[in-house]
Amino acid sequence: MNYLLRIGLGIALAFGLVRIAAAQARPYPSGDTRTTYEKLLKQIEVIPMYDNHAHPGFADDTDVDAMASPPDESATLRLRDDNPEFVAGAKALFAYPYDDFQPDHAKWLADRKKAAEQAGGVSYFSSILDKLNVDICLANRAMMAPYLDPKRFHWVFFGDAFFYPFDNSAQRVSTPDMGVYVPLQEKMLSRWKKQEGIQGLPADLAGYEDFVRRTMADNQKRGGVAIKYEAAYFRSLHFSDPPRANAKTIYNKYQAAGAPTASEYREFQDYIFRVMVDQAGKLHLPMHFHSAIGIGDYFSLHNGNVLNLENVLRDGRYKNVTFVLVHGGWPYEREAALMTAVKNVYLDTSFQTEMLYPSQFKEVVKQLLTLYPDKMMYGSDAFPFNDSLGAEESMWLAAYTTRTGLAAALAELVDEGAISEAKALELARNYLHDNAARLYGDLKK
Ligand SMILES: [Zn+2]
Repeated sequence: MNYLLRIGLGIALAFGLVRIAAAQARPYPSGDTRTTYEKLLKQIEVIPMYDNHAHPGFADDTDVDAMASPPDESATLRLRDDNPEFVAGAKALFAYPYDDFQPDHAKWLADRKKAAEQAGGVSYFSSILDKLNVDICLANRAMMAPYLDPKRFHWVFFGDAFFYPFDNSAQRVSTPDMGVYVPLQEKMLSRWKKQEGIQGLPADLAGYEDFVRRTMADNQKRGGVAIKYEAAYFRSLHFSDPPRANAKTIYNKYQAAGAPTASEYREFQDYIFRVMVDQAGKLHLPMHFHSAIGIGDYFSLHNGNVLNLENVLRDGRYKNVTFVLVHGGWPYEREAALMTAVKNVYLDTSFQTEMLYPSQFKEVVKQLLTLYPDKMMYGSDAFPFNDSLGAEESMWLAAYTTRTGLAAALAELVDEGAISEAKALELARNYLHDNAARLYGDLKK
């Protein structure tokens, strides 16, 4: 390089550096981040949210999920029903007059909810969404409830039952938890059969495939906006790609009677899963996966690890299928977030927003929004805990954690000079609402 050119380059770099320095990110925030936080939080509170994953419903409604809690689960600290934050939630939503959940106090809440249930109509749960400034909530339920307004609550139905068409006696006794889960899958499968007018099992694999495809298409026509898998509770999230001939042999062997071995059953499930992925692509029906840790002593962290899905998510044949990693893979949320680099892969932060405290969620959301912010979506995983502590308080806790954690994460990014305040609010709108609304075609033009 000649001397003059070197000087020229030096000058250009110097000017360049001056320009960069004005927007240079720093490791420590400047200014009072708490003030920035308060300012952002006020603006974030008025952004309506789109809840990508919840189980809205009354406590005695068994359709809030297709499965039930395992017989002996350990609840993490924040999700125990003595968490005083739930009192704050009940006060915010219902002006709950007590400061604890002593049985006679909790009855006040339970009575209120019972009265709402008996009154009927769709206004009660819509009013909860209004109080929390939630626009739309995806309702991941076995079946929809007449008390949820379909304009506000969109159905996400379950696909796992199709994994269990045969004699499941060996599956049931494999762990005490499977003894609870498998009969509920059998119940779900018989409901799909009834819906499609099918008695027993179709005579051959082609008949079964047709039944699976038809159920998916019909559920979509009945308002289903996505199909959800809780498979991580039952088996590995790794799905191999067996040839149809193998599935056909297994189907013919067990169609009438007999319990498949664990490996035969897994191979059949892997095949029928591929049939469902293919159909989901044809129907433009997003596929939701439980991708975080699960409850119960027998949930396998190894099998439930979101990385098990990588071969499916990166499969070029499935470019037309939208995949959503529900619960964002936690505690492997970085792995999950990195997989959203794939064009058709998204994630939501449901469940994390209830289990993690705002200071912990702040770190998660700060990381997520600096990776692929156009792929990240809000979610609650709201669920009725018991008669008094319902999906309502659970939804409140997730909304509160999300707004405060998000405002804190964005305040840090703004004060560290990484992003402008305008950019922070754009990221907030996309994460809280627009990414999901765009994905399901609900973005108002
Ligand atoms: Zn859930």
